Amino acid sequence: MKRYCPKCTHQHGKIRKHGFFKRKSDYKSIQRFKCIRCNTTFSKASTQKCIHQNKRHLNSIILKLIASKNSQRRIALLLGISKNTVATKIKFLAKSAREKNRQMLKQSSSAQEIIFDDMETFEHSKMKPLSITVVVEKYTQRILAARASIMPAKGLLAKKSRKKYGSRKDQRRKTRERLFQDLKNTIGSPVTIESDQNPHYIKSVTRHFPKADYIQYRGRRGCVVGQGELKEGGFDPLFYLNHTCAMIRDNLGCLVRRSWCTSKTIHHLQDRLDIYIYFHNNFLLKNRKKSALS
Ligand SMILES: [Zn+2]
Repeated sequence: MKRYCPKCTHQHGKIRKHGFFKRKSDYKSIQRFKCIRCNTTFSKASTQKCIHQNKRHLNSIILKLIASKNSQRRIALLLGISKNTVATKIKFLAKSAREKNRQMLKQSSSAQEIIFDDMETFEHSKMKPLSITVVVEKYTQRILAARASIMPAKGLLAKKSRKKYGSRKDQRRKTRERLFQDLKNTIGSPVTIESDQNPHYIKSVTRHFPKADYIQYRGRRGCVVGQGELKEGGFDPLFYLNHTCAMIRDNLGCLVRRSWCTSKTIHHLQDRLDIYIYFHNNFLLKNRKKSALS
């Protein structure tokens, strides 16, 4: 592997080994190097993403715990660390999950059949609702994207919400269209797109996927055990999406209905969604395949 000096980017050949040091956080021996040209010393760990992290060994367990219905405070209690450390770790994990999800979309085969829909939740109070656009590949249940957007309160809470928090923008269409734009390279041609009969969807689909075969199904009432996402009685043509949405809602503590755990801001929710997409596609689905084979 070619090594470069981080200061003068001098190439391999003028870099010499320069002893070891024991990393405090995990007691690993790390090789140090020295650039002959500028005398800069650096190590194998200098270019790693986890640089300056004292509890790097907890990263993977925190990722699994946050995507398994645990709150930040409970993770801090279980692992014996401060809740501020958990909060910082979640930001770091979300950033790296976003990068990995993007790479996965580039490398994986293009999706031929997709289903999408919007889920509803809220930030801080029910008077500040949020919408999450979820796009899932049919049959495999691979989550291609999940993006949160701001929406105004509806029904009985609308007037109260405007009075207390002022008018709220509706960013659902903008987010949906940006998401479709980002997915253009991942979705194959010809593609079949399915959704419910929301009248706002057709414009976005025809604008971004004019050649797609677009099918809309009538919306149905949700059943209680499926977190309101799985539908009552009989065959559900949108089952693969609804089942994935039920999984997202059940596995992220802040989305579970009637719970103490809530999203504090839209950015916190987006961080959790990105972590969940990574966990769902790389752990849950692969584990399911393994158990089906054994
Ligand atoms: Zn140098």
